Amino acid sequence: MDANSAGTADALVLGGGISGLLSARELAAAGHRVTVLEAGREWGGCVGSHIVAGLTLDSGAESFATRSDAVAALAGELGLSSRIVQPRPGGAWVQLPDGPRELPKTGVLGIPANPWDPEVRRSLGLLGSLRASLDRILPASAGAAAEVVSVAALVKARMGGRVLERLVAPVVGGVHSADPALLDVDMVAPGLRDGLRKHGSLAAAVAAQRRNSAGPAKAGSAVAGLEGGMHTLVTALVGDLRARDVTLLTGTRAVSVARTSEGWRVEAAGKTYDAGLLAVAVDGPAAVGLLEPAVPAIAGKKPGSGPDVQLVTLVLDKPDLDSRPRGTGILVAPQTPGVRAKALTHATGKWDWLAEAAGPGRHVLRLSYGRVEGTGNQGAGLDTDDELLAASLMDASALLGVGISRQDVVDWDVVRWPGSLPFAAVGHRARVNAIRKACTAAGRLALVGGWVAGNGLAAVVSDTKDQIRKLTA
Ligand SMILES: Cc1cc2nc3c(=O)[nH]c(=O)nc-3n(C[C@H](O)[C@H](O)[C@H](O)COP(=O)(O)OP(=O)(O)OC[C@H]3O[C@@H](n4cnc5c(N)ncnc54)[C@H](O)[C@@H]3O)c2cc1C
Repeated sequence: MDANSAGTADALVLGGGISGLLSARELAAAGHRVTVLEAGREWGGCVGSHIVAGLTLDSGAESFATRSDAVAALAGELGLSSRIVQPRPGGAWVQLPDGPRELPKTGVLGIPANPWDPEVRRSLGLLGSLRASLDRILPASAGAAAEVVSVAALVKARMGGRVLERLVAPVVGGVHSADPALLDVDMVAPGLRDGLRKHGSLAAAVAAQRRNSAGPAKAGSAVAGLEGGMHTLVTALVGDLRARDVTLLTGTRAVSVARTSEGWRVEAAGKTYDAGLLAVAVDGPAAVGLLEPAVPAIAGKKPGSGPDVQLVTLVLDKPDLDSRPRGTGILVAPQTPGVRAKALTHATGKWDWLAEAAGPGRHVLRLSYGRVEGTGNQGAGLDTDDELLAASLMDASALLGVGISRQDVVDWDVVRWPGSLPFAAVGHRARVNAIRKACTAAGRLALVGGWVAGNGLAAVVSDTKDQIRKLTA
């Protein structure tokens, strides 16, 4: 072994976000000796934490979709079942140019299951609901036939511009930080076009997806959380990996990947790591960049970098917010004048455990900034922490209808997520399929993570398990 060699593991995982940690767990469970290399200092990637006013809060993901039971099952395996919690009732709102409305609860990505649902009617108006209901008489081929299609093109063709602007754009902007005209519907709403073909209308496809959603929140909310925050899932995963003797290395950025007769060789932090199996669990641009030399078939297929997202967390002494004026939070329609945030989560209005931890009259708000617009720019144009704080106070006041000033702030923090959300541009699903095919053909290699699975913990967890199962089969 040369001086720079860190030795041979059975399996190597690049990236210590949720997909990398879960890959390591599945590989270790299949009997492999595993090493995980993480570029940063912390584990968990987008599932991070920070302390603000003495409260340990999620700094990235704070809930999971319950349309599948993937995350709940993982939490169960890690002994966290009893900590799965539902958000407080009341749901979220949407801020439209003409004022706030309750966000209909029966949609997928804001697409309604029934255009005549009273909440949907209130948002769309009579003409908007009439246009949306044309969806039921259009042929199923409208929007389903094209090879690739954006979220906006599908929704507009089937349900019209008001559904797009008043319901879908705010939800998509809040979740994916991008204009729906730029996003591949098969990536951000997998199965929806199949449902349209099968059930004959988009509304029926949405209703079927909602019916099929599993998990503890089946009848109500489409998301759940963990008492103590989603980051407790990472803490539990890391503990589990240590118990399985997995080697966990932070501050170890992989800089090159090469093929060897035995498998793979990775260079990171001045050392070489050899392994029979390789799981690549980094973001899309980094994954393709690392693998291109070893898997030439993927050359030139690097996906675009995701939007830069900034989160401002405010801890306030503000008993006026006890009434939860906008339920669990509010999503902002892109054309809303005077508001630069794309979403506000009233975290203490959403989670009982947090309201209790914060104490009477104390509130946690989280505002997010930055989205990829049709013109390709990143929206808000706020650079410094102080600019973000000032904007968040103005936006929170406007969105909640309660004056909030610097004097109300007990503590605050800004967390930046540069390019962390995968950018599922139109055609991304086809590109990802081609990349995966080439990597499978290369052998002993798995590609995992949000950029291949689709954004969000539910998609990432179930896809990662599938991919590692195939790798170890
Ligand atoms: C602000 C924010 C809020 C979100 N909220 C939610 C939510 O509420 N619910 C939900 O379901 N989803 C949410 N998501 C999405 C969800 O967090 C992600 O889909 C998921 O965590 C992605 O996991 P991952 O392992 O694919 O990637 P990541 O978490 O991005 O992990 C990738 C890891 O790879 C490391 N890395 C990169 N390059 C290298 C290299 N060369 N060598 C070694 N390591 C490298 C990175 O440092 C990082 O730790 C949110 C995302 C963000 C950014």
